[in-house]
Amino acid sequence: MKVGVLALQGAFAEHLDALQRLGTEARPVRLPEQLDGLEGLIIPGGESTTISKLMVAYGLLDTLKAGSRNGLAIWGTCAGMILLATEVDDGDLPIMGLMDMRVRRNAFGRQLDSFEVDLSVAHLGPVPFHAVFIRAPVVERVGVGVEVLSQLEDGRVVAARQGRFLATAFHPELTNDLRFHNYFVQEVIGKG
Ligand code: GLN
Repeated sequence: MKVGVLALQGAFAEHLDALQRLGTEARPVRLPEQLDGLEGLIIPGGESTTISKLMVAYGLLDTLKAGSRNGLAIWGTCAGMILLATEVDDGDLPIMGLMDMRVRRNAFGRQLDSFEVDLSVAHLGPVPFHAVFIRAPVVERVGVGVEVLSQLEDGRVVAARQGRFLATAFHPELTNDLRFHNYFVQEVIGKG
């Protein structure tokens, strides 16, 4: 199995490292032709406006929409989650529009820029997942086909899945816990 990590900007090196630690063949993706032969792609956290701009410039935004129709599984973390959504509060941002959900950027405001919290994620088993949030978005609305995977204590949705698309508002690549990467590889790509 081959998984790519979009390597235009942001925390792509950490995702490549996590996949390698899992024993999954992984490679960076910067150009559309580098998607050939991949079964899954991770879109990392970073700055969604910058990643979006570069995706448009390199022809990746359109190609990925097409790639997704060919069964490519995609996991967006943080900025990547913003780019997967069908609707973003920042209406001008070119996005992939693949997951039926509305996302709000920088949802935790200036006071609470970054924080860490133990999340309960039923699909990962009983042990909570220690999640790192950095100027994170939240999911404000999900469509009927979207499964909520995790919520904060106040009910706000921070992880969701729709078929072969997975979105997390936080950064699993910044901890040593590989369970989300394993879930993407085994469940979303493997059985999605
Ligand atoms: N705040 C960033 C954005 O809106 C996302 C931050 C992140 O990916 N850690 O694009």
